[in-house]
Amino acid sequence: METYCVFRLLGAGERSAQQASRSRITYHASRVAHAAISVGRGTMIRQLEADAVVVGGGTSGCYFAWRLGQAGLRTIVLEKRRLADVGQEIDIFHMDEVRFPEFGLPLPTNGELIGYYPTGLAWSPDLQVKNEVRYPFYVMHKPAFHQRLYRYVEREGGQVLERAEVVWPLIEGGFLVGVRALHQGAPLEVRGRIVVDASGIDGCLRTRLPADFGVETEPIRERDTLYVCLEFRDDLPPGTPTGLNFYPFHKAFWNPSRGKGAILGIGQPGGYDVAWQKHREWREEYFGNPGRVVKRTQGRTPYRRSPYSLVGNGFMLMGDAAFQTKPFSGEGVTSSFTACQIAAEVAIAALQLGDVSRAALWPYNTRYFRGQGAKFASMFVQLPAAAGLSRREVDFLFHHNIIFSGEDLRQMNLDYETRLTPRDTAAMAARLAWGVASGRFSARSFKRLLDASSAAARIKAHYQRYPEEPGGFDAWVQEAKKLWGEETI
Ligand SMILES: Cc1cc2nc3c(=O)[nH]c(=O)nc-3n(C[C@H](O)[C@H](O)[C@H](O)COP(=O)(O)OP(=O)(O)OC[C@H]3O[C@@H](n4cnc5c(N)ncnc54)[C@H](O)[C@@H]3O)c2cc1C
Repeated sequence: METYCVFRLLGAGERSAQQASRSRITYHASRVAHAAISVGRGTMIRQLEADAVVVGGGTSGCYFAWRLGQAGLRTIVLEKRRLADVGQEIDIFHMDEVRFPEFGLPLPTNGELIGYYPTGLAWSPDLQVKNEVRYPFYVMHKPAFHQRLYRYVEREGGQVLERAEVVWPLIEGGFLVGVRALHQGAPLEVRGRIVVDASGIDGCLRTRLPADFGVETEPIRERDTLYVCLEFRDDLPPGTPTGLNFYPFHKAFWNPSRGKGAILGIGQPGGYDVAWQKHREWREEYFGNPGRVVKRTQGRTPYRRSPYSLVGNGFMLMGDAAFQTKPFSGEGVTSSFTACQIAAEVAIAALQLGDVSRAALWPYNTRYFRGQGAKFASMFVQLPAAAGLSRREVDFLFHHNIIFSGEDLRQMNLDYETRLTPRDTAAMAARLAWGVASGRFSARSFKRLLDASSAAARIKAHYQRYPEEPGGFDAWVQEAKKLWGEETI
């Protein structure tokens, strides 16, 4: 249904409304409020309505909208950029082969497909060990994949609006009922029975919800962010790596680009300057200055636990906005699809029943956090101990097939955890103890790994007991905060 209405707001006249809509609206609350008020008496505001409104036309928002469309529900996706620009900043990305059938997606072809790699290599810091990881990846053109998802949404009756920047949530009677946006500079109001924040790392809706809405509203902090720097190089000399190459100690990779080119990438905390500095050090030490730099790009990816609840009355949160990236790599397209798929099933059931309350949407929380969410929480607890290891210690692990074996890394990609029998665990502990005894692994690091491993098991078990209903949530959060070492009330 498409309607037009007039907001009778007191304030400045129509000319200042036009000026306001032409000027860039920032996220600052007072500027946004000013923009709304200065719409002025008598100004026409376009109003749209759908079953679900999705903020963010990235992979997560579109996947969710597509799923709802397949169930006969109408979705409007609002994307602040031109659709042709979405994905351009990353240009080339990787998607694991197993996830295509899992998420009902045909394999990439034509303009989307850059390469297919059935295996990759994980390198020790001393480059003496290279473990083959048998886990196939597609290398793909990201903007083309976005275009495919837009087609899917529209084929099922959904609508994707470009240059539609959401500036404020609409809340009525304790329910999120829609959003205010600027569409190509003009005010737009979009209402839906469910409103989804899939707006990426900054969570433009989540961070603007009232404090008592039941969802954490703090913006992501710098220390919870990975800064990803990509350098595209061409004309590479013989002897440089080919295929997928992963350097865990440096959190870096050398992956294929178009033709014979390569992407040298790194993901680091601490800001872009730190990340580029580490990129340079890693590249110079291992490869010198090979070939020619075609371009450099950069972006942020979340590196922290998800908010404890992903739902509110009429509200759902997913993708980078919900911090659903893989803790060991920072990749987030397919791990977000896991969440979007659950969220879509829950949303469809809720919309069909006519109840979009927090309680009705709660199964998204329960199913996500008891599954992938529990594994990711466990990994986030373990990773700092692994990241704190010295170069010599990581070499020791590689040389003795501990943690970084090809099979461990394959399982990590596939299941987000390494399945160890008690016998495997005992053997690993014995090898580490031997490393300590022979002076190649520090006792302190050994203890940190053991402590992290038991803390990870505790947090995973706690997430697997995520409450079935909102009733048990507060007590669950109190316990979770203790396990994360956060302040409790
Ligand atoms: C350099 C880099 C390389 C990466 N490589 C890979 C990879 O190879 N494989 C992989 O799986 N993952 C990769 N990732 C991570 C991956 O890109 C993200 O996890 C994924 O794109 C998240 O999708 P999303 O839809 O949740 O968020 P986003 O892709 O961030 O999409 C959110 C969308 O919302 C829009 N938006 C924001 N605010 C508003 C607003 N107010 N109104 C309307 N629209 C708004 C944005 O313009 C954006 O298009 C990489 C990340 C980076 C930074």
